[in-house]
Formats: sequence, structure tokens, C-alpha cells
Amino acid sequence: MKAAAFAYHRPDSVKEAVDILAELGEDAKILAGGQSLVPMLAMRLTHFENLIDISRLDELCGIDLVDGAVRIGATTSHALVGLDDEVADSVPLLTLATPHIGHFQIRSRGTLGGAIAHADPAAEYAAVALALDARVEATSSRGHREIPAGEFFTGLWETALAGDEILTAVRFPVWPGRCGFAVEEFARRHGDFAIAGATVGVQLDGDDRVARCAIGLLGLGSTPLRGTAAERAVLGRTVTDLDDAGLAEVGRVAMGAIDDIPADLQGSAAYRAKVGSTMVARALAKALAAANGKG
Ligand SMILES: Cc1cc2nc3c(=O)[nH]c(=O)nc-3n(C[C@H](O)[C@H](O)[C@H](O)COP(=O)(O)OP(=O)(O)OC[C@H]3O[C@@H](n4cnc5c(N)ncnc54)[C@H](O)[C@@H]3O)c2cc1C
Repeated sequence: MKAAAFAYHRPDSVKEAVDILAELGEDAKILAGGQSLVPMLAMRLTHFENLIDISRLDELCGIDLVDGAVRIGATTSHALVGLDDEVADSVPLLTLATPHIGHFQIRSRGTLGGAIAHADPAAEYAAVALALDARVEATSSRGHREIPAGEFFTGLWETALAGDEILTAVRFPVWPGRCGFAVEEFARRHGDFAIAGATVGVQLDGDDRVARCAIGLLGLGSTPLRGTAAERAVLGRTVTDLDDAGLAEVGRVAMGAIDDIPADLQGSAAYRAKVGSTMVARALAKALAAANGKG
């Protein structure tokens, strides 16, 4: 199958892009790496009269350390994020998440902004953004604003972006001190979206107690989710307290707090909950070990 005909626009600046978007309204869609949008157009699952290609706008590509956060431009590819030394040092959760995204061809073209704006419930970067309280920068012809990740994912493939807004960058806070991070997920085949997964960050104090815990869950709802109840269950506990039984309990707490775990051809809700619980326990164990190793 081929996509239905559309008009193709390639603006030379963000300003030109948002002006076109404002003028064309609902008939227009942003095209970035095309790794989600193009297959959907080709399968005729969606159609837009106009595509606005932002993939070659240099001003949207790049990685910088700004005010205690790593700011990543929207069109920076997954591959660049995964290879970047500043990201590996300052926001290791992104580096750990990157190899889980599709195949290397997809990571070469797919963009960080596209992954966040597409808002797939199983998107790794979306779960990382939620866990770390990232801030999404949006621009329209009306001006700029920042949206906390916790308010950004509003439904299945739906976000808080207005129709005339472009996601221009995402800011990921840098965690200082004795921190450890891990990403665990399960997919039937390498490169598939995960059935369920967890992205975890922990910070230990001088007594080996968990002073900070962040858990992002993927594949377990209509949006990526924050594992707030599980985070609370971990805070203040020591590394030795969180043994196999303790970790398994945290996994169960995480799943117990989710109202409506989806069932589909990949598995029942109960199966997904079991996988999700195990992924939380495994990721937490790895993150704790990494933080403890920095003793
Ligand atoms: C086989 C396969 C496996 C995959 N596996 C995974 C996986 O495991 N994990 C994962 O996270 N992803 C996966 N993906 C999706 C891939 O990561 C996409 O690249 C990503 O979801 C979208 O990024 P993109 O730049 O390609 O966006 P596009 O496909 O160009 O756009 C996707 C959507 O986001 C909107 N959009 C894009 N950029 C912006 C912007 N800057 N501002 C506003 N709106 C914007 C578009 O309008 C469109 O609605 C997979 C894709 C395939 C084909």
C-alpha cells in the first residue's frame, strides 16, 4: 500500500515551520524522522493534506548542558543521543534506554522529539522523561512555553501540544551524587515495542538509604506511566533491606497502583502485570547495585 497524496513543505527555520502550521491548521502534520508517521501514512491508518518536514532544521538538532539539565533538540536522532558522552555522563538513563528502541536503522532516522511527541505508551524516551521530571519545550507562532513531562502525555498517542505547536527540545535534569540507573524491558523479538518495561533511577545517601527514586513504566497503560506508589515504597529503605523478596514486593506495588493494564494479542492484562512487576524488580536491583558501587 502507498500513502495517499500530500503536499510536502520543507521550511528553512522553526519560525517558518510554525507559520505554515498556523496557516494550515488541522490539515498539516509535522514530519521528523518519519519512523512512526510514514508507516501510518503508508498503511493509510492516517492522512494529512500537508506534511511539514522539520528533519533538516539545524537549529532543532543538538545536545547541550543548560542550567543543571541536558537539553536535547527535537530532531536529534536516537543514535546521536545513544552515542553522546555528555548524555552518558549526565543522564545515563537515556543512554541505557536507546538500544531498546527498534532497530539501528530506526534509531538512525527516528528523533527524540518525534518519540516524545508520538507518545506511544511503550516508548522508552517517554518513560525516561516522565521518571526524571523532564520539561518539554514547545513553540508556536504565539510564542514559547514549557510543559512538565508529568502533564505532557494525555492519552494514547495524545499529548498536551496544541495543534499549532512544535516540540523544539526536551530538558532532562541531571542527578548528582551516588546515583544508579537501569532500563529493563521484555519484547518477544528484538526490535519490537516492549510488552512491558521499567526505567529506574535511584540516589543513595551516606547510610545507604534510598534518598530519591524515579520509576517510569512502559507498555502498561494508554500512556507511559510514573510508578509513584512503587517509588514511595522504596524511599528511605536500605540496599540490604531491598533483597529479592523486597524487590518483588516493589514490583507488585507498582502494578497494583495501575487501574487499567491493557490486554491485546501480545498477552492478557494479568500476563502484562506479571512481566511489568518483574521488570520493575530487575531494573530496581540493577539501579541499586550501580548506585551502591559508587559508595
Ligand atoms: C519496527 C519499528 C519498531 C519501533 N520500536 C520502537 C521502540 O521500541 N520504542 C520506541 O520508542 N519507538 C519505536 N519505534 C518508533 C520510532 O522510535 C520513531 O522514530 C519515533 O516514535 C518517532 O520519531 P520520528 O522522528 O520518526 O517521528 P515521526 O514518525 O516523523 O513523527 C511521529 C509523530 O510525532 C509528531 N512529531 C514528530 N516530531 C515532532 C515535533 N518536533 N513536534 C511536534 N510533533 C512532532 C509527528 O507529527 C507524528 O505525529 C519503532 C518504529 C518501528 C517502525
